[in-house]
Amino acid sequence: MEEKNCEICKRQGKKSLCDYHAKAYYNIVKNYEYWRDAYDELCWEEYLMKLIVNSECGKWVKEVAKYLISKKIKRLDI
Ligand SMILES: [Zn+2]
Repeated sequence: MEEKNCEICKRQGKKSLCDYHAKAYYNIVKNYEYWRDAYDELCWEEYLMKLIVNSECGKWVKEVAKYLISKKIKRLDI
């Protein structure tokens, strides 16, 4: 199997994100549904910005959110 490096931390793995960042990404996608219910018309980018400034969000989540914003990525295929 081809080895890849995590796009965020360069850790080696089998996907474009390592296990830590992939897990954070899944949580981000999952929680978006709840946040969209809580805030009216919260778009994906606004949601990611909120995660970055939220003190309760972990380091991995913030790194993934910053990465997604910098690359203007809506959904990752991982
Ligand atoms: Zn990583």
